[in-house]
Amino acid sequence: MKKETICVQVGGIIDPIYKGIVTPVHTSTSFAYLEMDQKRYPRYYNTPNQDAVVKKLCALESAEAGLLLSSGMAAISTVLLSFLKRGDHVIFQKSLYGGTRNFVQSEFVNFGIEFDFVNGNKPHHFTEKIKDNTKVVYVETPSNPLLEIVNLEEVANFAKEKGLISIIDNTFASPINQNPINFGIDLVLHSATKYIGGHSDICAGVVVGRKKLIEMTNLMARNFGGSLNAQTCYLLERSMKTLSLRVNQQNSNAQAIANYLQAHPMIARVNYPGLESHSDHKIAKAQMKGFGGMLSFELMEGIDPIEFQQTLKIVRSSMSLGGVESTICSSTLTSHASLTEEQKISEGISDRLLRLSVGVEDVKDIIEDINSCILLGKK
Ligand SMILES: *Cc1c(COP(=O)(O)O)cnc(C)c1O
Repeated sequence: MKKETICVQVGGIIDPIYKGIVTPVHTSTSFAYLEMDQKRYPRYYNTPNQDAVVKKLCALESAEAGLLLSSGMAAISTVLLSFLKRGDHVIFQKSLYGGTRNFVQSEFVNFGIEFDFVNGNKPHHFTEKIKDNTKVVYVETPSNPLLEIVNLEEVANFAKEKGLISIIDNTFASPINQNPINFGIDLVLHSATKYIGGHSDICAGVVVGRKKLIEMTNLMARNFGGSLNAQTCYLLERSMKTLSLRVNQQNSNAQAIANYLQAHPMIARVNYPGLESHSDHKIAKAQMKGFGGMLSFELMEGIDPIEFQQTLKIVRSSMSLGGVESTICSSTLTSHASLTEEQKISEGISDRLLRLSVGVEDVKDIIEDINSCILLGKK
């Protein structure tokens, strides 16, 4: 089945009594248990509406099993603490989602878990950090906010060779554009708050991967209790029916905007994996089906980045991403606000860098909005 079909058809529950065409919302938190081998309970992650979403996601990600949680961070923290124990070591890609970085830096010491961030995206950067007690390697590609690319096959092979579990946060790509399991990655995470939900009104997270690993995660998840209620599951399933439509439109809009901005005299730099000028365009092309709806760009000196965002009419300033509406934010004011001046320089994140989450509006309207604000800001 093709992705467009999976989005619409897989996972939905046919109502056996009335034969309604959409999945009913099963609000029960209590289920008969005597005649079933498996006990159902929301915090066991196996209610009908939870199952419906997980089935669709597994089909999209070519995964054996999955677990739906109440936020992206619930998925990330539960997965990491399922496979990392006191005395273990984990290797992280350097550019990580701010919440993940904060969790690692502020909490891991209390759990007695050691960690290292790699200083680059090539295999030797990962090998350099390996220790006897390393158990997990964790990446994010494309990364926030510079849209850096990591070679998934190389990371998967590195993990296999060293006996590590490989984990990826696949939020930016969405399951439409990138399926890391096909490259040998063990576990794939998403903040479903972003593309999978897609309408800026649902908070959820998901992990999919090999059955054995998901079963281990489920045991930890029962302890942490970050489950999702039936109504939100239903909304998520409904949103996913248009996931492919939305993301394909976002892909083509973002490519057109990146091309336009790259040629614009008032734009210093554009970061988008779909541009041939991107340093890892070839890798992105080999492992992604589309280059995604996220891009970042740097305004030339002379245009005030705050005023620029305030003047925009269609594109709205907002912290989150992945919705049908185009949104923009300054990384130094949001996800990377805690970096020192030195860190900002060394990571290439300046105050003039803006991150754009491209929506599904008509691309000409978005480009006109951006261009008219650049021209206004110039004088
Ligand atoms: C938003 C986000 C998260 C966290 O997800 P929440 O649903 O906000 O908990 C994790 N990773 C990435 C890449 C994100 O963009």
